[in-house]
Amino acid sequence: MRHVRQAAGALRTLASSYPCVRVTAVRALAAHGGPQGPQGPQAGLVWARHHSDGPSVAGEAGVCHKTDTVVLNPKRSDEMSFPFVWLRDNCQCSECFHQDSQSRTIIMESFNINSKPETLKITQDSLCIYWSDGHVSTYNIEWLQKHAFSTSAQQNWLTNMYRLPRKTWTAKSFSSILSRFKYSDVIKSDAVLYNWLVNLATYGVSIIEDAPAKDTTVRSIAERVAFIRKTHYGEEFSVRAKPGTTNVAYLSANLQLHTDLPYYNYKPGVNLLHCLVQTESDGGANLLTDALAVAEWLKRDCSSSYHALTTTVVDWNDIGQEDGNYFHSIHRAPVICEDRFGVVERINFSQPQRDSHFNVPLEKVKPWYEAMDKFTKGIYSSNFCVSYKMKEGDILTFDNIRLVHGRKKYEDTAKAVRHVIGGYLDWDEIWSRIRVLKNNFRTA
Ligand SMILES: [Zn+2]
Repeated sequence: MRHVRQAAGALRTLASSYPCVRVTAVRALAAHGGPQGPQGPQAGLVWARHHSDGPSVAGEAGVCHKTDTVVLNPKRSDEMSFPFVWLRDNCQCSECFHQDSQSRTIIMESFNINSKPETLKITQDSLCIYWSDGHVSTYNIEWLQKHAFSTSAQQNWLTNMYRLPRKTWTAKSFSSILSRFKYSDVIKSDAVLYNWLVNLATYGVSIIEDAPAKDTTVRSIAERVAFIRKTHYGEEFSVRAKPGTTNVAYLSANLQLHTDLPYYNYKPGVNLLHCLVQTESDGGANLLTDALAVAEWLKRDCSSSYHALTTTVVDWNDIGQEDGNYFHSIHRAPVICEDRFGVVERINFSQPQRDSHFNVPLEKVKPWYEAMDKFTKGIYSSNFCVSYKMKEGDILTFDNIRLVHGRKKYEDTAKAVRHVIGGYLDWDEIWSRIRVLKNNFRTA
């Protein structure tokens, strides 16, 4: 708290223009038994305590002019520091913030980033700041705690509200992580809807069972969350063998492991595959691998391969037509995409949809293929890859940003038909639904 001590002086002078605060400050210092009284090193703190006989005591507040921060509860384990500029920018008054839309209304163009507090006043549940520009801001203490700059407060928000932590799985742990939910429960119950989405976010895969054998079932589930994500293949798409197709998914041969639509910059986030008719022949099972787990394994096992796959930009494309609508899509990105913190955020993997244009220096080509070979062996290995044959009425839901999926070949004859209807959801919408549900449960 050295910096707070160094703030002595400035506030004391300012406080004198607000007698009530000065009085409480002196009283509080006396009660605190400060070794040097109001003239001592802590005199820069302007604080107030509740003098009721209740068990709780309001915290203290001070300013540090070295770091330009307001410090709440100095020297205590729950000490929090807030930059002046952030506090002024996040004033919650009706002039600065519109409650109904939860939106800041301060005009940035005329905002003074150098406003300073003249006086602080703290009560049981609020902090009041009198600013140098004459403005007065009041902040709820609980609100400040939630928006604190401490690692724990920020981590809490990032993992509980922003994104839930992902947990990787292997072939061995697949059966223990695979969750199943009844279609009717997902439709009727917000708690079940929430649990399904949380499982999907955590493990990247979950199954909805006993879904009605209707063409509209995938849409009903998508609309329970948000809305179906349209692509150049339309909204719902039907997967069954059809001759003369432009997409290999519509063939009954083996379908290699892949992510869907890597050629989209905004790639659809989640696949919903509803099994209407399953082939009675052998085959037709889906293959699934948690490519995030394989990427982590590759990073540990062969960092040069991992580096090649995270830094070599690949061209992904899709050229064709659907119902007479022609498309030519291209997206350029590595196979394993890391975010700015080095965390894997997206896997792109599709043998048929990798362009022959490979816009990298000559010497990068062979090392990339070597790395790709290693990664491919990983995603197909029995350590990581599982097979799951959907039952009629199953909706297999999985993360298209993280998992790779494929299908074993099957005989498509009059007796052995397979019909799956698919659709997509976007993660932005899923995260939004998770947060809305979570907040509803909290306030219920
Ligand atoms: Zn304001």
